[in-house]
Amino acid sequence: MPTSDHARELIAALRARFGADAVSDDTAAFTIAGGAPACVVRPLQIEQVGELLAFATKRDWAVIPVGNATHLRVGAPPAQYDIALSLQRLARIVAHEAADMTVTVEAGVTLGALNTALAQARQWLPLDPPLAEQVTIGGLIAADLNGPLRLSQGKVRDLLIGITVVLADGSIAKAGGRVVKNVAGYDLGKLFAGSFGTLGVIVEATFKIRPCPEQTRVLWITTYDDQDAAELALTLLDAKLAPLFVEVLNTTAAAACGQTSGGIALALGGIAEELDAQQTVIVDYCGRSARVCDDREAAQLTHWLREFPRQAAATLTARISLLPTELAGLLPRLTPEAVARGLEAAVVTHAGNGVARLHLRGDEGQALLFIEWLRIAVRARGGWVVFDSLPVGLHGQVEPFGYRTAALTLMEGIKRQLDPRGTLSPGRFVGGI
Ligand SMILES: Cc1cc2nc3c(=O)[nH]c(=O)nc-3n(C[C@H](O)[C@H](O)[C@H](O)COP(=O)(O)OP(=O)(O)OC[C@H]3O[C@@H](n4cnc5c(N)ncnc54)[C@H](O)[C@@H]3O)c2cc1C
Repeated sequence: MPTSDHARELIAALRARFGADAVSDDTAAFTIAGGAPACVVRPLQIEQVGELLAFATKRDWAVIPVGNATHLRVGAPPAQYDIALSLQRLARIVAHEAADMTVTVEAGVTLGALNTALAQARQWLPLDPPLAEQVTIGGLIAADLNGPLRLSQGKVRDLLIGITVVLADGSIAKAGGRVVKNVAGYDLGKLFAGSFGTLGVIVEATFKIRPCPEQTRVLWITTYDDQDAAELALTLLDAKLAPLFVEVLNTTAAAACGQTSGGIALALGGIAEELDAQQTVIVDYCGRSARVCDDREAAQLTHWLREFPRQAAATLTARISLLPTELAGLLPRLTPEAVARGLEAAVVTHAGNGVARLHLRGDEGQALLFIEWLRIAVRARGGWVVFDSLPVGLHGQVEPFGYRTAALTLMEGIKRQLDPRGTLSPGRFVGGI
């Protein structure tokens, strides 16, 4: 956190350069892990982002790009944080080519605003992260956000076909374009998806978009226990179905969204005949344990599943990534291991993607013991655990990414090449990048 003298000097220099309007010292909404920057800068043009980064890099001031601050807690606390660079005023939809099914937007456009605009052509960008209405396109890409729909629609990397970024030296780099088939050049989009603001500032992006489904239907399937749920989900994923999502909830998670026991939430999309045919297949497998949710319950359940990763009551939240076939071995062990340490664990799993989201509640010391067990258990099955949020008491004791292998050297090399002086989001990523 900057000292007051340093903050005053920095604000004066930035106001002299960019105008008083663009620089604010009201930083409360931009705090990360208790640390606030000296000021917030809100550029109106892409070129101003370049000027700001070149200006800051020369002075060794650290800059963190910020969209709507919805997912700033993800990642390690910054090693230095002088300027919050807000993209909120770069919020134009540049081009929507409905016939080509592509859209180009500035990074500050929210996913909600974009999908409202696309809905006029019955199209959407089918990503469903928490706080989908408020998430900006820049944050969506940088934090590689997604939700239950990733099963059927893919993730940011699958939909992003062009990107414009500003690098730490102020230069503007572009890759891809507005054409879906585009193989020329270095795939900057894949590099920036999940870069957490450490490589450059995303200022514009082009996505391929999809038609909205004609109708949707959500089924709830009650299961006997966590093992039964994990195995049944795999069976359904193998069946002749094309679900929008298949989410497995343990008993604690199910109770939190109003269900009486653990189970599977499965969504279908398409025309009525397709939905009827798939529903018949599901009922054949599950019998009376499957039921169709009414519109209200379906909307509530879908919303709850989307928002699950950010529910505030948890002591910590984690993402476990495994082969889908390994989940049936791990899921039944999670709840008993937590209970044995006096902890409460709510678990929601993207069954087809092998990603389980865990919310743990309880004593921090016991949580630390559970984390040690979890990392070993998941690694033994060839997977990874990433902690999205940790209590302040565990900062420094738990590395959010917990990752040290040869790939880290490669990542450090890319960071050095694109941001040699460490201007952008220093210390936020894996291995202190
Ligand atoms: C540093 C790191 C390295 C990893 N390496 C592997 C691996 O070699 N094999 C594997 O199966 N899983 C790996 N994982 C786990 C992986 O990122 C995912 O959790 C998992 O594979 C699901 O992928 P995802 O793209 O759905 O990521 P998500 O669960 O959606 O998100 C994981 C987040 O971590 C980011 N990330 C950070 N570093 C990396 C990295 N080096 N490679 C990919 N993503 C990274 C992602 O971009 C993303 O933002 C790694 C995770 C981290 C944090």
